[in-house]
Amino acid sequence: MSQEFPIVNVLNVPFINATQQAFLDAVEHRIDTRQTTFVVTANPEIVMYARQHPSYQTLLENADYVTPDGIGIIKGAEILKTPLPERITGYDTMLALLAWGNQRQRSVYFVGAKQEVITDLKRVVANRYPHLKVLGARNGYFDDFAPIADDIAQQQPDMVFLAIGFPKQEELIAAYQHLNHGLWMGVGGSFDVLSGHTKRAPKFFQEHRLEWFYRLISEPTRAKRMLVLPRYLRTVKREARKLRQK
Ligand code: UDP
Repeated sequence: MSQEFPIVNVLNVPFINATQQAFLDAVEHRIDTRQTTFVVTANPEIVMYARQHPSYQTLLENADYVTPDGIGIIKGAEILKTPLPERITGYDTMLALLAWGNQRQRSVYFVGAKQEVITDLKRVVANRYPHLKVLGARNGYFDDFAPIADDIAQQQPDMVFLAIGFPKQEELIAAYQHLNHGLWMGVGGSFDVLSGHTKRAPKFFQEHRLEWFYRLISEPTRAKRMLVLPRYLRTVKREARKLRQK
Protein backbone atom coordinates (compact mmCIF):
# COMPACT_ATOMS: atom_id res chain seq x y z
CA MET A 1 0.00 0.00 0.00
CA SER A 2 1.34 3.38 -0.97
CA GLN A 3 2.05 5.59 2.03
CA GLU A 4 0.96 8.99 0.77
CA PHE A 5 -2.72 8.86 1.82
CA PRO A 6 -4.24 8.05 5.19
CA ILE A 7 -6.10 4.74 5.22
CA VAL A 8 -9.68 4.03 6.22
CA ASN A 9 -10.40 0.39 6.91
CA VAL A 10 -13.81 -0.90 5.96
CA LEU A 11 -14.10 -4.49 7.16
CA ASN A 12 -10.31 -4.80 6.99
CA VAL A 13 -10.00 -3.51 3.45
CA PRO A 14 -7.61 -0.52 3.40
CA PHE A 15 -9.20 2.30 1.39
CA ILE A 16 -7.27 5.47 0.61
CA ASN A 17 -8.71 8.59 2.19
CA ALA A 18 -8.34 10.87 -0.81
CA THR A 19 -10.35 12.92 -3.24
CA GLN A 20 -10.60 11.68 -6.79
CA GLN A 21 -8.34 14.55 -7.92
CA ALA A 22 -5.61 13.91 -5.32
CA PHE A 23 -5.68 10.24 -6.24
CA LEU A 24 -5.40 10.99 -9.96
CA ASP A 25 -2.47 13.34 -9.33
CA ALA A 26 -0.69 10.59 -7.40
CA VAL A 27 -1.29 7.96 -10.08
CA GLU A 28 -0.23 10.30 -12.89
CA HIS A 29 2.97 11.06 -11.01
CA ARG A 30 3.68 7.36 -10.63
CA ILE A 31 3.07 6.81 -14.35
CA ASP A 32 5.38 9.73 -15.16
CA THR A 33 8.12 8.17 -13.03
CA ARG A 34 7.55 4.67 -14.49
CA GLN A 35 6.56 3.02 -11.23
CA THR A 36 4.60 -0.21 -11.30
CA THR A 37 1.23 0.68 -9.81
CA PHE A 38 -1.66 -1.63 -8.94
CA VAL A 39 -5.04 0.02 -8.36
CA VAL A 40 -8.13 -1.81 -7.12
CA THR A 41 -11.46 -0.01 -7.18
CA ALA A 42 -13.40 -1.98 -4.59
CA ASN A 43 -17.16 -2.18 -4.01
CA PRO A 44 -19.07 -4.00 -1.24
CA GLU A 45 -19.11 -7.18 -3.29
CA ILE A 46 -15.32 -7.19 -3.36
CA VAL A 47 -15.08 -6.45 0.36
CA MET A 48 -17.39 -9.35 1.18
CA TYR A 49 -15.54 -11.64 -1.20
CA ALA A 50 -12.23 -10.78 0.49
CA ARG A 51 -13.68 -11.81 3.87
CA GLN A 52 -14.20 -15.31 2.52
CA HIS A 53 -11.01 -15.55 0.47
CA PRO A 54 -7.80 -14.84 2.40
CA SER A 55 -5.62 -14.80 -0.72
CA TYR A 56 -7.81 -12.07 -2.24
CA GLN A 57 -7.66 -10.16 1.06
CA THR A 58 -3.84 -10.33 0.94
CA LEU A 59 -3.90 -9.13 -2.64
CA LEU A 60 -5.95 -6.08 -1.60
CA GLU A 61 -3.52 -5.34 1.21
CA ASN A 62 -0.63 -5.50 -1.25
CA ALA A 63 -2.19 -3.27 -3.92
CA ASP A 64 -0.81 0.26 -4.15
CA TYR A 65 -4.22 1.91 -3.90
CA VAL A 66 -7.66 0.58 -3.03
CA THR A 67 -10.36 3.14 -3.82
CA PRO A 68 -14.04 3.29 -2.80
CA ASP A 69 -16.01 2.21 -5.86
CA GLY A 70 -19.67 2.61 -5.06
CA ILE A 71 -21.88 4.32 -2.59
CA GLY A 72 -21.91 1.26 -0.32
CA ILE A 73 -18.29 1.85 0.67
CA ILE A 74 -18.91 5.57 1.35
CA LYS A 75 -21.93 4.59 3.49
CA GLY A 76 -19.87 1.92 5.29
CA ALA A 77 -17.08 4.38 6.14
CA GLU A 78 -19.72 6.82 7.42
CA ILE A 79 -21.28 4.17 9.67
CA LEU A 80 -17.81 3.36 11.03
CA LYS A 81 -17.35 7.10 11.79
CA THR A 82 -14.31 7.32 9.49
CA PRO A 83 -15.87 9.05 6.49
CA LEU A 84 -14.33 9.03 3.02
CA PRO A 85 -14.70 12.15 0.84
CA GLU A 86 -16.14 10.66 -2.34
CA ARG A 87 -16.44 7.69 -4.63
CA ILE A 88 -13.50 6.90 -6.88
CA THR A 89 -14.90 4.52 -9.46
CA GLY A 90 -13.02 2.41 -11.95
CA TYR A 91 -14.95 3.85 -14.86
CA ASP A 92 -14.41 7.53 -13.93
CA THR A 93 -10.75 6.89 -13.16
CA MET A 94 -10.21 5.16 -16.48
CA LEU A 95 -11.88 8.03 -18.38
CA ALA A 96 -9.83 10.64 -16.51
CA LEU A 97 -6.60 8.77 -17.21
CA LEU A 98 -7.45 8.29 -20.88
CA ALA A 99 -8.07 12.05 -21.19
CA TRP A 100 -4.81 12.80 -19.37
CA GLY A 101 -2.96 10.25 -21.51
CA ASN A 102 -4.40 11.80 -24.65
CA GLN A 103 -3.02 15.21 -23.68
CA ARG A 104 0.41 13.75 -22.98
CA GLN A 105 0.52 11.22 -25.79
CA ARG A 106 0.72 8.32 -23.38
CA SER A 107 0.30 4.68 -24.25
CA VAL A 108 -2.39 2.24 -23.19
CA TYR A 109 -3.18 -1.47 -23.42
CA PHE A 110 -6.71 -2.84 -23.13
CA VAL A 111 -7.54 -6.43 -22.21
CA GLY A 112 -11.08 -7.63 -21.58
CA ALA A 113 -14.69 -7.97 -22.70
CA LYS A 114 -16.03 -9.63 -25.84
CA GLN A 115 -14.35 -9.20 -29.22
CA GLU A 116 -17.15 -7.01 -30.62
CA VAL A 117 -16.85 -4.75 -27.59
CA ILE A 118 -13.09 -4.45 -28.01
CA THR A 119 -13.51 -3.68 -31.72
CA ASP A 120 -15.94 -0.85 -30.93
CA LEU A 121 -13.81 0.31 -28.02
CA LYS A 122 -10.84 0.82 -30.35
CA ARG A 123 -12.98 3.01 -32.60
CA VAL A 124 -14.40 5.07 -29.74
CA VAL A 125 -10.95 5.56 -28.19
CA ALA A 126 -9.37 6.56 -31.52
CA ASN A 127 -12.12 9.16 -31.97
CA ARG A 128 -12.22 10.56 -28.48
CA TYR A 129 -8.53 10.31 -27.60
CA PRO A 130 -6.68 10.62 -30.92
CA HIS A 131 -3.25 11.22 -29.34
CA LEU A 132 -3.37 8.19 -27.11
CA LYS A 133 -1.17 5.33 -28.32
CA VAL A 134 -3.11 2.09 -28.16
CA LEU A 135 -0.43 -0.61 -27.96
CA GLY A 136 -2.85 -3.50 -27.58
CA ALA A 137 -6.56 -4.26 -27.45
CA ARG A 138 -7.48 -7.87 -26.78
CA ASN A 139 -10.69 -9.55 -25.77
CA GLY A 140 -10.99 -11.08 -22.33
CA TYR A 141 -11.80 -14.62 -23.39
CA PHE A 142 -8.30 -16.12 -23.44
CA ASP A 143 -7.12 -19.45 -22.02
CA ASP A 144 -3.69 -18.27 -21.05
CA PHE A 145 -2.69 -14.77 -20.04
CA ALA A 146 1.05 -15.46 -20.33
CA PRO A 147 1.40 -14.55 -24.05
CA ILE A 148 -0.53 -11.31 -23.46
CA ALA A 149 1.67 -10.56 -20.46
CA ASP A 150 4.74 -11.13 -22.66
CA ASP A 151 3.46 -8.61 -25.16
CA ILE A 152 2.79 -6.09 -22.36
CA ALA A 153 6.27 -6.69 -20.95
CA GLN A 154 7.80 -6.02 -24.33
CA GLN A 155 5.77 -2.91 -25.14
CA GLN A 156 5.79 -1.32 -21.66
CA PRO A 157 2.52 0.65 -21.94
CA ASP A 158 1.96 3.51 -19.49
CA MET A 159 -1.41 2.06 -18.53
CA VAL A 160 -2.97 -1.40 -18.66
CA PHE A 161 -6.72 -1.72 -18.15
CA LEU A 162 -7.99 -5.22 -17.50
CA ALA A 163 -11.75 -5.62 -17.84
CA ILE A 164 -12.58 -9.24 -17.11
CA GLY A 165 -14.38 -8.85 -13.77
CA PHE A 166 -13.19 -9.51 -10.24
CA PRO A 167 -11.53 -11.55 -8.76
CA LYS A 168 -9.73 -12.76 -11.87
CA GLN A 169 -8.60 -9.35 -13.11
CA GLU A 170 -6.90 -8.55 -9.78
CA GLU A 171 -5.40 -12.04 -9.49
CA LEU A 172 -3.80 -11.69 -12.92
CA ILE A 173 -2.51 -8.21 -12.11
CA ALA A 174 -0.99 -9.40 -8.84
CA ALA A 175 0.76 -12.23 -10.68
CA TYR A 176 2.07 -10.23 -13.64
CA GLN A 177 2.40 -6.62 -12.50
CA HIS A 178 6.18 -6.82 -12.08
CA LEU A 179 6.49 -7.17 -15.86
CA ASN A 180 5.39 -3.61 -16.61
CA HIS A 181 6.56 -0.32 -15.14
CA GLY A 182 3.22 1.36 -15.45
CA LEU A 183 -0.33 1.40 -14.16
CA TRP A 184 -2.42 -1.76 -13.87
CA MET A 185 -6.07 -1.42 -13.02
CA GLY A 186 -9.04 -3.81 -13.10
CA VAL A 187 -12.08 -2.04 -14.54
CA GLY A 188 -14.83 -4.70 -14.62
CA GLY A 189 -17.52 -3.90 -17.16
CA SER A 190 -16.09 -0.50 -18.16
CA PHE A 191 -15.26 -1.45 -21.76
CA ASP A 192 -18.90 -2.44 -22.31
CA VAL A 193 -19.92 1.05 -21.19
CA LEU A 194 -17.25 3.09 -23.01
CA SER A 195 -17.81 1.17 -26.27
CA GLY A 196 -21.54 1.93 -26.02
CA HIS A 197 -22.61 -1.70 -25.51
CA THR A 198 -24.14 -1.07 -22.08
CA LYS A 199 -25.50 2.19 -20.82
CA ARG A 200 -24.37 3.76 -17.61
CA ALA A 201 -27.12 4.92 -15.27
CA PRO A 202 -28.70 8.22 -16.34
CA LYS A 203 -27.58 11.30 -14.39
CA PHE A 204 -30.74 11.23 -12.25
CA PHE A 205 -29.82 7.84 -10.79
CA GLN A 206 -26.18 8.82 -10.34
CA GLU A 207 -27.02 12.05 -8.57
CA HIS A 208 -29.50 10.40 -6.25
CA ARG A 209 -27.04 7.68 -5.34
CA LEU A 210 -29.26 5.14 -7.09
CA GLU A 211 -26.87 3.78 -9.68
CA TRP A 212 -27.14 0.34 -8.07
CA PHE A 213 -30.94 0.49 -8.47
CA TYR A 214 -30.64 1.37 -12.15
CA ARG A 215 -28.30 -1.56 -12.70
CA LEU A 216 -30.69 -3.84 -10.86
CA ILE A 217 -33.65 -2.94 -13.06
CA SER A 218 -31.69 -2.81 -16.32
CA GLU A 219 -29.68 -5.99 -15.72
CA PRO A 220 -31.91 -8.27 -13.64
CA THR A 221 -29.30 -11.03 -13.81
CA ARG A 222 -27.24 -8.92 -11.41
CA ALA A 223 -29.95 -9.18 -8.76
CA LYS A 224 -28.43 -12.24 -7.16
CA ARG A 225 -25.03 -10.55 -6.92
CA MET A 226 -26.66 -7.57 -5.24
CA LEU A 227 -28.00 -9.65 -2.39
CA VAL A 228 -24.59 -9.11 -0.89
CA LEU A 229 -25.40 -5.43 -0.22
CA PRO A 230 -27.76 -5.82 2.76
CA ARG A 231 -25.43 -8.44 4.23
CA TYR A 232 -22.51 -6.05 3.81
CA LEU A 233 -24.38 -3.23 5.59
CA ARG A 234 -25.37 -5.53 8.46
CA THR A 235 -21.75 -6.62 8.84
CA VAL A 236 -20.53 -3.00 8.86
CA LYS A 237 -23.12 -2.07 11.52
CA ARG A 238 -22.06 -5.00 13.66
CA GLU A 239 -18.42 -3.92 13.28
CA ALA A 240 -19.34 -0.33 14.24
CA ARG A 241 -21.06 -1.57 17.42
CA LYS A 242 -18.01 -3.66 18.30
CA LEU A 243 -15.71 -0.66 17.80
CA ARG A 244 -17.92 1.54 20.03
CA GLN A 245 -17.75 -1.01 22.82
CA LYS A 246 -13.95 -1.07 22.79
N1 UDP B 1 -15.28 -10.89 -19.12
C1 UDP B 1 -14.15 -11.23 -19.83
N2 UDP B 1 -13.68 -12.53 -19.75
C2 UDP B 1 -14.27 -13.46 -18.97
C3 UDP B 1 -15.42 -13.09 -18.22
C4 UDP B 1 -15.89 -11.79 -18.31
O1 UDP B 1 -13.58 -10.42 -20.54
O2 UDP B 1 -13.79 -14.60 -18.92
C5 UDP B 1 -15.77 -9.51 -19.22
C6 UDP B 1 -17.22 -9.35 -19.59
O3 UDP B 1 -17.37 -9.42 -20.98
C7 UDP B 1 -17.51 -7.96 -19.02
C8 UDP B 1 -16.59 -7.88 -17.80
O4 UDP B 1 -15.64 -8.92 -17.96
O5 UDP B 1 -17.11 -7.00 -19.96
C9 UDP B 1 -17.27 -8.11 -16.46
O6 UDP B 1 -18.07 -7.07 -16.17
P1 UDP B 1 -18.81 -6.94 -14.77
O7 UDP B 1 -19.68 -5.75 -14.88
O8 UDP B 1 -19.40 -8.25 -14.36
O9 UDP B 1 -17.57 -6.60 -13.82
P2 UDP B 1 -17.53 -6.49 -12.22
O10 UDP B 1 -18.87 -6.00 -11.78
O11 UDP B 1 -17.22 -7.89 -11.77
O12 UDP B 1 -16.40 -5.56 -11.97
